[in-house]
Amino acid sequence: MRRTLTLIAAAVLLAAAGSAWIARGALADRRAAFETDARIAHRLLSQRAVQHEAILATLALLQPGGGAEARPEERLPALYPQVQQVLRRDRDDTWPGNEAAALAAAEAASRTARRAALAAVDVERGRFWLVQAALPTSYALRIDLDAFVPAGEWTFPRDGAARAALEHEGRVRLLAPGRVDGAGWRFDFAKHLAAESQPFDLQATLRVGWGELPWAAMAAWSAAVALGVAGIAAWQRQRTERRRAQELLRLGQVGRLNALGELAAGMAHELNQPLTAVLANVQAAERLLADEPPETDTARGAMAQAVAQARRASEVLARLRRTVERPEVGAALQPLALGAALKRALDLVEPECRRLGVAPRIDCEATLALQAEPVAFEQIVHNLISNALHALAEVPAGERTLVLQARAEGEDVVLAVRDSGPGIAPEVLPRLFEPFFSTRRGGLGLGLSLCETLAAGMGGSLVAAHAAPRGAEFRLTLKGAR
Ligand code: ADP
Repeated sequence: MRRTLTLIAAAVLLAAAGSAWIARGALADRRAAFETDARIAHRLLSQRAVQHEAILATLALLQPGGGAEARPEERLPALYPQVQQVLRRDRDDTWPGNEAAALAAAEAASRTARRAALAAVDVERGRFWLVQAALPTSYALRIDLDAFVPAGEWTFPRDGAARAALEHEGRVRLLAPGRVDGAGWRFDFAKHLAAESQPFDLQATLRVGWGELPWAAMAAWSAAVALGVAGIAAWQRQRTERRRAQELLRLGQVGRLNALGELAAGMAHELNQPLTAVLANVQAAERLLADEPPETDTARGAMAQAVAQARRASEVLARLRRTVERPEVGAALQPLALGAALKRALDLVEPECRRLGVAPRIDCEATLALQAEPVAFEQIVHNLISNALHALAEVPAGERTLVLQARAEGEDVVLAVRDSGPGIAPEVLPRLFEPFFSTRRGGLGLGLSLCETLAAGMGGSLVAAHAAPRGAEFRLTLKGAR
């Protein structure tokens, strides 16, 4: 469960980090593209502004000789769409029109500064005058801000996402309104036009909303992470299952070997019969030979019978010796950390516990250890837990509890395996550890007798008792280890 939660947390983190990285990349790209557009727009505007200065300088330089046909400035609006009107003032004239005063002031400023000067700037309506003082004739151009840059070259379309505006002394002419409201990321660009005579600022803003993030790529990445993590989880689950199956197989094999040992005890009575027959035959032969005259033929027959029975007995023994090679568990005692061993034993039966709805509880101090032969100890605990689960299957699901409780008692460590099953009937209790005693359908009745033998082999003991308030308790006592 904890491993699953860790995996889910890792997947969420990985998906979030990857998505953030993808979003960051996309935003950086948007920003770079916007800044490129803004720099191009700034360059175009600056070129135009410089162009206005050049036009005025050229007009001033040409200084017409007189006559209508010698007025090249009148053709300018046709050539340059942003030039709305051209005015000239000859040496003794005044500027025509109702903005004459402003133009005269700008002319004076132009004369002092020795460059073109602005006059009657009307940012809201999008126009201004640019005046160049010269002798004998001064010129003035009325420029349309909206036509400053031809639409074909302009990088911020009117209906585009970016906002672009020209600003002069706090007043603003919108060139493209853009869509800059709402949540998201905002990129700004502001730069002064590179023409001293026309001190306008280009201001551009781009708003990238949440909806414009590369959600498809982010979702694809998250799905890939989820798939990967699900794959890892499945692989881990498979590995755990495989290990558990191998472990059960191993325990089963050890159990079968040891069960054969128990079988030997059960088979002892097989020897009884041939030995009794041998004895009877030999005694008969003895009697027959003592007769006068001795009945040698009959005695020989009895002896042959005895030999045949003795052979049978020896075969039984040989068979037992072959199959009964019980490990000498006492020789291999070693310190064993109890808590971990109990956890391993429970892990093995985890699917069975889940099936029965049993949540086993371990009550054991972390430092508790005992002297045991690990395989034998595992075998005993596995058998006791399996028996407890068999017993628990007999009672309603809501009443199933299983506790493994370990306590140090003097030099010893006592492990109690307690279940809330139907318990042990009083007439059954004294026979529990007999080989082949079983009340279970399909039970061999060898498990507990094997466990008792193994416990004794390790210098310990195994006893059964009633558990309070109900169920059975098996207490395994072994030497403690420090
Ligand atoms: P098997 O499990 O093959 O019957 P065992 O030697 O393990 O052989 O068990 C012998 C008998 O002891 C079981 O048939 C059952 O009657 C009894 N027994 C063992 N453990 C428990 C328990 N936890 N609760 C009740 N009875 C038990």
